Amino acid sequence: MKVHHLNCGTMRPWRTPDGLVCHVLLVETDDALVLVDSGIGLQDAADPAGRFGPARFCVRPAFDTSESAIRQVAALGYDPHEVRHIVLTHFDADHTGGLSDFPWAEVHLTATENQASLHPRGVVERGRYLPSHRAHDPRIVPHTPGRGEPWRGFPHATELADVAAGIVMISLPGHTRGHAAVAVDAGTHWVLHVGDSFYHRGQIDGTGRAPKSLTAMERLMASDRSGVRGNHRRLSRLWADDPADLLLVNSHDPVLLHRAHSRTTP
Ligand SMILES: [Zn+2]
Repeated sequence: MKVHHLNCGTMRPWRTPDGLVCHVLLVETDDALVLVDSGIGLQDAADPAGRFGPARFCVRPAFDTSESAIRQVAALGYDPHEVRHIVLTHFDADHTGGLSDFPWAEVHLTATENQASLHPRGVVERGRYLPSHRAHDPRIVPHTPGRGEPWRGFPHATELADVAAGIVMISLPGHTRGHAAVAVDAGTHWVLHVGDSFYHRGQIDGTGRAPKSLTAMERLMASDRSGVRGNHRRLSRLWADDPADLLLVNSHDPVLLHRAHSRTTP
């Protein structure tokens, strides 16, 4: 499948010199388009307070409508109605802002994340899951990768056969209760999008060089800190192994987005 790598939301948190992106995948399947995450959408730009909450003062999104997924899908020459599925890594606002721009699309996420976003527990969850991102009544399809088979060293994963063969949801909780990674078969290689399992490559590349502001934010937002550390260890091994047939990307590191652009699929 052909995979496009889009930045659907530039953010400029303090003391993060390179800034952050919202790395969204646009996947061409045989009969539809699929988004992996949806970034920051048109409604967010129109109502930053209601749609992003106080977090906007921390991550400082640009709210540039030309970066929204729907505008970029159209700019690539597609009809946005061809986007029939959106697969989410998790339900944080910088990943769900584009959902309301595609109200016809089915929204796939883990059943755990769906429950967490509907029934948040504690201060962090009540702050992160914004009811405004469900106001358009999205067509939610929950999945249970946590009961699935191993996939390339990850203990539990499930292929989303109702979306397309070669799209795999991998259970990777830690950042949120029901966080997932999503793997896409791009023909010559797999694209493994690990969402917010780490923020900056310096957290897994052995250098330890990640902005302290980002590691502090990660700790603050973590649903399970030991789970986050475990994910770092697992992804560090994958980074060190650097398998030729796998491209590892996350949501917010602009350098990983740049690397992905230089490795396009035929
Ligand atoms: Zn995020």
